[in-house]
Amino acid sequence: MTRAKLKPAFELDRVVAALRRALPPEIEAAPLHQPRFAGREWDYVKECLDSSFVSSVGNFVTRFERQMAEVAGTAHAVAVINGTAALYVCLLLAGVRGGDEVLAPALTFVATANAISYCGAVPHFVDSSPVTLGVDPEALAAHLHDIAERRGDAIVNRRTGRPIRALVPMHTFGHPVDMEPLLELAAEWGLWVIEDATESLGSRYKGRPTGGWSRLGAFSFNGNKIVTTGGGGAITTDDAALAQAAKHLTTTAKLPHPWAFVHDRVGFNYRMPNLNAALGCAQLEQLGDFLAMKRKLAERYRRALAGVPGVDFVAEPPFARSNYWLNALLLDEAHAGERESLLRRCNEAGLMCRPAWTLMHRLPMYRDCPRMDLPAAESIERRLVNLPSGAGLAADDGG
Ligand SMILES: *Cc1c(COP(=O)(O)O)cnc(C)c1O
Repeated sequence: MTRAKLKPAFELDRVVAALRRALPPEIEAAPLHQPRFAGREWDYVKECLDSSFVSSVGNFVTRFERQMAEVAGTAHAVAVINGTAALYVCLLLAGVRGGDEVLAPALTFVATANAISYCGAVPHFVDSSPVTLGVDPEALAAHLHDIAERRGDAIVNRRTGRPIRALVPMHTFGHPVDMEPLLELAAEWGLWVIEDATESLGSRYKGRPTGGWSRLGAFSFNGNKIVTTGGGGAITTDDAALAQAAKHLTTTAKLPHPWAFVHDRVGFNYRMPNLNAALGCAQLEQLGDFLAMKRKLAERYRRALAGVPGVDFVAEPPFARSNYWLNALLLDEAHAGERESLLRRCNEAGLMCRPAWTLMHRLPMYRDCPRMDLPAAESIERRLVNLPSGAGLAADDGG
């Protein structure tokens, strides 16, 4: 073995020890993101069962939508079956159609790109900012300047001839992207902005919640998100007409009538069931507690990793208050080759750590999609490790 190999290995031990130090000593195994049911979940779910309204009609759905609108700071929220459906419906409402291109980060969960594809549109992958991990406004501005031109009222990708219709920034791991320059850029080019806020429930950008910064926002309440409904999603908007259209489209496009089944277009059965909403109402009541616990856990990781050479804790951007949905560290570029070993060590030590998602343009179905140079996203992909992040890891009751 060479010396060059020994030195980083020594550092890996220090990284694993630091991570262990950040967690309560009595915890033997820490899952990546365990849900926490410490509120009125059992009461509300029982109430829902007792009412017999378990499906897509019921009081909990309405209540959940009201709570969600408040959290996102929007006038309206429409509950749906999952975050992917929320994104898909937002894109349809923005008029995205077959043959369009939609700008989206290469560093994201596959659902962002899938929702674009469901419309028959093509994702066009954009690089990340090293600060936010989300879409880099400056890099995107330069790229659009290079490849896009106005033709009539459409913006066309000169290389593919396809119209570019929308931009879907994603708040990675809960850290808000720099929305203001992105909104300015979108206004300049006439692009719709749809916030993929699936990971950032409760995060704030410049004092205001994510999911309410653009005309349409999408949330997810999957089992691994900060608040869960088992499976679920929501569309947030300030626009009453868009909210109405979202509800209509996700409720089989049925026209209101006491008994007649009249539908005025091909709609979807995407409404969130009342049973899931009951769970969600109880979960949302605890969002404040979850945010406090996750902030505490993030601070413990930050402090534990502060003196460890070769790694940086991923902290919230200076202009934002993150929900710290998933904590992460970044290995220095020099130690990127040790990432797999670090993952192995952590998982052997009971710490369920995970790599960043494989970048979208490396997946077989998205290999041929248009993209800009992705140096920052590729660097993050090589170096990032997500850390156990459930709120319970910082709860006084031990989770
Ligand atoms: C979780 C997630 C989604 C989709 O959520 P589901 O509810 O699982 O459909 C979409 N985009 C991103 C970035 C996510 O993390």
